[in-house]
Amino acid sequence: MTFKNPCKPVVLTGDRPTGPLHLGHYVGSLKNRLDLQNRTQPHDIYIMVADTQALTDHFEQPNLVRQCTLELVKDYLAIGIDPEKTTMFIQSQIPELCELTTYFMNLVTVSRLERNPTVKSEIQQKGMQESLPAGFLCYPVSQAADISAFGLPESGNILVPVGQDQMPMIEISNEIVRRFNRLYGPCLQEATGVLSPTARLMGIDGQNKASKSLNNAIYLKDSKDILREKVFQMYTDPGHIHVQDPGKVEGNMIFHYLDAFAPDQEQVHAFKTHYEKGGLGDVVLKKYLFSVLDDLLAPIVEKRHTVRDQDAMEILMEGSKQARQRVQEKMKHVRAAMQLDYSKPMATDPGLHPQVSL
Ligand code: ATP
Ligand code: MG
Repeated sequence: MTFKNPCKPVVLTGDRPTGPLHLGHYVGSLKNRLDLQNRTQPHDIYIMVADTQALTDHFEQPNLVRQCTLELVKDYLAIGIDPEKTTMFIQSQIPELCELTTYFMNLVTVSRLERNPTVKSEIQQKGMQESLPAGFLCYPVSQAADISAFGLPESGNILVPVGQDQMPMIEISNEIVRRFNRLYGPCLQEATGVLSPTARLMGIDGQNKASKSLNNAIYLKDSKDILREKVFQMYTDPGHIHVQDPGKVEGNMIFHYLDAFAPDQEQVHAFKTHYEKGGLGDVVLKKYLFSVLDDLLAPIVEKRHTVRDQDAMEILMEGSKQARQRVQEKMKHVRAAMQLDYSKPMATDPGLHPQVSL
């Protein structure tokens, strides 16, 4: 078996197959993945379709998760993720990740997991307060396993291109990794989150981050008509009733999206000044934003139509095979460090077992 060059920086990230990818994913994480993929210095890049994690809050909809798994890969290919350079794989096809998650469960307390601000707000949004599945509370532990299973000692910290909401997960992941290394010996690498300038794109409702689960996002596969409809539904300034009224830029989704996507930021600045003074209508701005987003999305939608389901599934199966081999190799070291490799004598180094309190 041949591994990719082990000295390249390792990149691991992923998405939950709970719906199509949207513009928040694009500016928050996908653009950084493309940038890392297309650098002259090659990176060792893995993108995971997190189906096991998606089931933690979609366990009653396995068909949805299955369908979205394929759709995610079609989105990746449509934006230019290249299977020759990036390994795309399915989380559930690597059972060793569940094994590592089990070991990691001992290295974090329930109260630490309950303090995670992203999980706290997701529990609220999903109304799970009374019926919180243990799997959902613990999904950051499985994320820690997903990330650290790909680290290589020569490659330094694992790079994780993510949106702002995932930074608490990286913090927990690093705490677990440090605890593991102190207890069992230096075996795992820490993670570094790679954030983009728009690390949290708001939804068109202006209330929450754009999210598949909240139905407030513009999807990468949206047709022109749907895109126009969503742009014209965007939350603006409710106090800006007549064209001549001065309008608010802060909290206005048209400007939030123009900041994130318009190539001509001088034009955006001029629009802001005019809007605040009064005399610039929402319709003019929405038409401009529509053309900006259409320029970005039309080629993606076109490319997506050329991707066949069968090809997308083959790419995922081949990627899962490669990723699994990589993780299996890592797990040999993990098991040996934890005295779980029964084919070898027990290590007797007393330095490997200091008391570590949680
Ligand atoms: P779900 O509602 O099922 O959690 P989601 O829209 O939050 O879906 P995820 O699959 O959880 O999407 O996130 C995939 C990646 O995209 C993560 O790195 C996440 O931080 C990033 N991301 C998600 N939403 C946004 C957003 N609105 N702005 C920036 N980055 C985002
Ligand atoms: Mg999410």
